[in-house]
Amino acid sequence: MYDILVIGSGFAGSVVADRLAREAGKKVLIIEKRDHIGGNCYDKKDEHGILIHQYGPHIFHTNIKEVYDYLSQYTEWYNYSHEVVAKVNGEYIPVPFNLNTLKIAYPDKAEELEKKLIEIYGQGKRVPILDLRENKDEDIQAIADYVYENIFLRYTMKQWGQKPEDIDPAVTGRVPVLVSDDNRYFQDTYQGMPLHGFTPLFEKMLDHENIDVKLSEDAKEHLEFKEDGIYLDGQLFKGEVIYTGALDELFDCKYGRLPYRTLTFDFEYMKEDSFQPKAVVNYTVDEDFTRITEYKKLTGQQAEGTTIMREYPSAYTGENGQIPYYAIINDDNMALYNKYVGLVGKYNNFHLLGRLAEYKYYNIDGIVDKALKLAKEIM
Ligand SMILES: Cc1cc2nc3c(=O)[nH]c(=O)nc-3n(C[C@H](O)[C@H](O)[C@H](O)COP(=O)(O)OP(=O)(O)OC[C@H]3O[C@@H](n4cnc5c(N)ncnc54)[C@H](O)[C@@H]3O)c2cc1C
Repeated sequence: MYDILVIGSGFAGSVVADRLAREAGKKVLIIEKRDHIGGNCYDKKDEHGILIHQYGPHIFHTNIKEVYDYLSQYTEWYNYSHEVVAKVNGEYIPVPFNLNTLKIAYPDKAEELEKKLIEIYGQGKRVPILDLRENKDEDIQAIADYVYENIFLRYTMKQWGQKPEDIDPAVTGRVPVLVSDDNRYFQDTYQGMPLHGFTPLFEKMLDHENIDVKLSEDAKEHLEFKEDGIYLDGQLFKGEVIYTGALDELFDCKYGRLPYRTLTFDFEYMKEDSFQPKAVVNYTVDEDFTRITEYKKLTGQQAEGTTIMREYPSAYTGENGQIPYYAIINDDNMALYNKYVGLVGKYNNFHLLGRLAEYKYYNIDGIVDKALKLAKEIM
């Protein structure tokens, strides 16, 4: 009955389903284990009428025109440029560190330091702190230390559960200082939020007579991998299967669990109109949470009161209700991942796509781009 089976209805699965249904006339079945579509980009109104992102704040940004044009078929955009500040010793400073941060961190010397940075590295440059450290000028080295200690170190320890000695110097060295007073977090050509939210965008994408969506169904209960092929509900499935879930969990973690970081989200509604100066404030030197998002400031919604969300990272254990968010990518974990890939390598009609199935971090534009390419290949 179906030509294509898609597992998961995040951007990876939904884009492939949309393209194959609309462009190639294929009959597509999507199986989704949550009770809603949209994967981690799902948003909805909370009980106070505030539009929230259930799985953490998502901001669309890209330099890929094809991706922007493609998504624009399904949504208009709220013109939003993301700016993030960190709360350091009671003060809000722009991150990544830039010339405006410099003015707050070094009120007396900012002008002199700014001149030095521009002279040495050039206006508009993105300079890794490793390069600043290698400079002989003590002032420049001090800026690198400031960024490391006040913006990077504790935030990274919380995010990845690491001790300072475990933090890879190669990663530390890449932390940037922007020789610019552009406070935008992303410099991409296209950025914004879907005007009516992400969920309506997904609803439009999947609203097609060739697409059926089954919610609250775990594909594991429906699939079997046998010698002669992949079986769906006891029948050999000859069409293409696009899998966007975690590969280890599909095989009951038989070689061991792939390590991930998970997040706990703590939502709070407040009667006041505004809680913080920007949509996202990072807590880089104190507190157990990494950041607070104030949703109205992200979506531009006008509403009474405001909803904020604190984000607490921890190790993913696979317990009920936990979601694996960030793959912990290193050589050992990739070797384990590749063992699982070995279990599916012989099925030519089985495709791994997305942040879970590929054990990889993707931004929205990256996965939309990859999904468009896979759909073309299949066509
Ligand atoms: C906290 C956080 C913030 C982020 N912020 C941004 C941002 O600001 N901008 C940006 O560009 N990107 C952001 N991202 C990245 C973005 O979330 C991903 O690019 C995107 O979600 C990837 O889509 P996906 O379809 O691969 O995965 P997902 O959205 O995770 O979708 C996978 C789907 O598969 C389903 N599934 C899994 N296993 C099964 C199964 N066995 N059976 C049935 N269904 C299954 C899941 O329920 C899920 O719905 C963020 C990520 C996180 C974690």
